[in-house]
Amino acid sequence: MSRSTSCIQPPYSFNPLTGGIRQPRMITHRRKYWDQHQTLRIAFVSATSRALQKEIAAAASPWLEHINLTFEWVKGKEGDIRINTDTDVYNSYLGSDSLQIPAGEATMNLSFNEAFRPEDYPGCVLHEFGHALGADHEHMHPESNIPWDLPVVYEYYARTNGWSQQKTDDNVLATHENSQFLKTTAYDKLSIMHYPVEQELTVGDWEATQQAILSAGDIAHMSSLYPKA
Ligand SMILES: [Zn+2]
Repeated sequence: MSRSTSCIQPPYSFNPLTGGIRQPRMITHRRKYWDQHQTLRIAFVSATSRALQKEIAAAASPWLEHINLTFEWVKGKEGDIRINTDTDVYNSYLGSDSLQIPAGEATMNLSFNEAFRPEDYPGCVLHEFGHALGADHEHMHPESNIPWDLPVVYEYYARTNGWSQQKTDDNVLATHENSQFLKTTAYDKLSIMHYPVEQELTVGDWEATQQAILSAGDIAHMSSLYPKA
């Protein structure tokens, strides 16, 4: 199971993106990040073994070396971030959007099934925690300029994910000119937040391989949001 077939963000029903209305960048782009130096309480809402909880905590921890937030892994089902491992999907609400989700409902889905375990489970966890901290998909960066081969892209996501053209537009092809989380650092092809892009999906010689660790760009971005010093 590759990340490209699974990680799409839940709809923003409580905070619709602005559609065609372009909002001023500087006013909106930091609106829904966590508070500086905040301790994020993280809970599991599904039955999750201690071993898997530890594995997830370890996989998420590289972010902590670069930010001023703290993760507190709590018992029980109440937390700022609530993880469900009993699911087929990977996704997470962005930043403090999680606070607007009703208590008891997951804010992050981290599918776990020994039989279908992705080869890069730690990388998937790192990616979803990037969302939870407020990072959006990197391939949707306004400066990504990916030379998509559109007919092939639509056919690919229809075949592999069962997505309509619209869903592919929304999750792969669109760029986040209007995002509340508009990134202030440069486009980074090596970001953990980038979908892998196979050569066949682009025109000419362009591909992005799936990443398993934080890139220098990821570190620069997140440390700019939550600077340690
Ligand atoms: Zn994602």
